[in-house]
Amino acid sequence: MISLTARYFDGRTSASHQVTASLHDDGTLRLVGAGIDRRGPLTAVRIADRLGNVPRALWLPDGAKLETPDNDAVDAMVATLPPGRRALGLVHRLERQWRFALGALAVTAVLAFLGVEYVLPAAAERVAMLAPVELEHALGEETLEALDGTLFAPSELPPETAGSVIVRFEHLRRAVGFDAALRLELRSAPAIGANAFALPGGILVVTDELVTLLEDDYDALAAVLAHEVGHVLERHSLRAALQSSATALLIASVLGDVTSLSGLAATLPTVLVDARYSRRFEADADREAIRILLRMGVSPAALATALEAIERSHGGAGEVPGYLSSHPPTADRLERARAAAVTGRVPGKD
Ligand SMILES: [Zn+2]
Repeated sequence: MISLTARYFDGRTSASHQVTASLHDDGTLRLVGAGIDRRGPLTAVRIADRLGNVPRALWLPDGAKLETPDNDAVDAMVATLPPGRRALGLVHRLERQWRFALGALAVTAVLAFLGVEYVLPAAAERVAMLAPVELEHALGEETLEALDGTLFAPSELPPETAGSVIVRFEHLRRAVGFDAALRLELRSAPAIGANAFALPGGILVVTDELVTLLEDDYDALAAVLAHEVGHVLERHSLRAALQSSATALLIASVLGDVTSLSGLAATLPTVLVDARYSRRFEADADREAIRILLRMGVSPAALATALEAIERSHGGAGEVPGYLSSHPPTADRLERARAAAVTGRVPGKD
């Protein structure tokens, strides 16, 4: 005979009574306490699962409840039931499912975190590097077209200013070295202010506002362009779009069908204007910029100068849509550029 002491609730009042519950050899559970003497088959009792040493509940068919800390005795009672009769009641099943759901949620959150943090960027990089050049060009053209219909207007720079920017750009293009599928596009963009974008396929867009801001400092302008070239070489815009469009990425990497990427043109303008590049993308683009500047014979300190000038032009506020939102000039970026100016060397990877 297995016995345990429990608190007995009759299911109608909140009062509890101390009882002794004994399981007899014939499977009868008997409850005895002050004014209480009840008996019935244990098979009619719903018994909660063990949850560590949390007091255990046993429900009688009429709604009365037992609560006991004696989990071992309850386990011993459960063990006497034929396996088929250890089935759980509805409340109990829900409780189990709830716990299962909570566990599943935690697992999902961890997987999602790992996916976003590691798997997604790696897959995006792989797909972006495999994407055919023609596709990238098409995406770049479509994105520029979309931006021309919204944020961009034709450049209003005086021809001689535009001319000297183009000369600087050609100088930079030679320094980049790869027979540069690079193209410079000048645009007026009052809404976003001093800014530069690297579209897929090597299209560099520079706003009139940026040129005006850095007009007297063509080294600083070259530094911004070199940074954008860094984004081009690493295919950051395509990778960022892929990371933000996990479905397209999934189709492309699982089916090997890169034509599905053409749908990305719809998301690219948003990605480029609103989304931040990751700190790693920025650091990689800076590293490339420093390499190019050194090859041009321009001090990498120009990059720090440019970043600070742009920050000032936006009032130092991160709220302003524009260069800062996608290229926050963190202290370590300024530091790296200035250090490279002293050492004359490209900083290593973090
Ligand atoms: Zn950047």
